[in-house]
Amino acid sequence: MIDTHAHLDACAEPADVLVERAREAGVERIVSVGTKESSWHETLAIAERHDGVFAALGIHPHEASDGDVDALRAALDHPKVVAVGETGLDYFRDYAPHDAQRRVFDAQLELAADTRKPVIIHTRAADEDTLAALAGFGGTVVLHCFSSLPLLEPALERGWYVSFAGNATYKNAHDLRSAAYAVPAERLLAETDSPYLAPVPGRGRPNEPANVVHTVAALAHARNAAADELAAQIDENAVRFFGL
Ligand SMILES: [Zn+2]
Repeated sequence: MIDTHAHLDACAEPADVLVERAREAGVERIVSVGTKESSWHETLAIAERHDGVFAALGIHPHEASDGDVDALRAALDHPKVVAVGETGLDYFRDYAPHDAQRRVFDAQLELAADTRKPVIIHTRAADEDTLAALAGFGGTVVLHCFSSLPLLEPALERGWYVSFAGNATYKNAHDLRSAAYAVPAERLLAETDSPYLAPVPGRGRPNEPANVVHTVAALAHARNAAADELAAQIDENAVRFFGL
């Protein structure tokens, strides 16, 4: 099994402990996401120590005000980098001015195109601008921690991948599970977004990659599929998406 989106550098417990516990739970591969320059270096150091850990590097929309695109370009050269991101727009938290967010997002889409890497999208309360920014992008896209239902139809039309996190396991998240049902099997991904958004039964506790098994189980239930078969399908999708 694979956790396609975790922030190992942001977890309270040492990454090496979390990677080992994931392996014991059957989660052999983790894509760890670095969200700013200091986080890229920590993420790469973790990926260098573990065969099964890969890196995605980007400038998170929260970090857009002081995101250094040239430094990112250089960091993407590392052989364990498999994606650009997370990048996108967040008008909900609104930690950076919208024009800075859009500028840094566009620049990262260019980097993804230049390096032929897939891009991991974070979008919150910014559906229209996200769709507009991605309109001219010909590369491979995943909407991470899918939560904006109006984006489902355009995502499926444009052939994007859709990744579900622990919030899809929450009791009242019927709409997210319906969305998971609607995504074609070959476009579905699962993630923890550790240390955030722990799935049921660990809701409220710090999240970790081992917990992706709970999210996959909930997605399988929503799709009337066997959990082991869906896990194998998601693995195949992740290998294709990230070029593992
Ligand atoms: Zn994330």
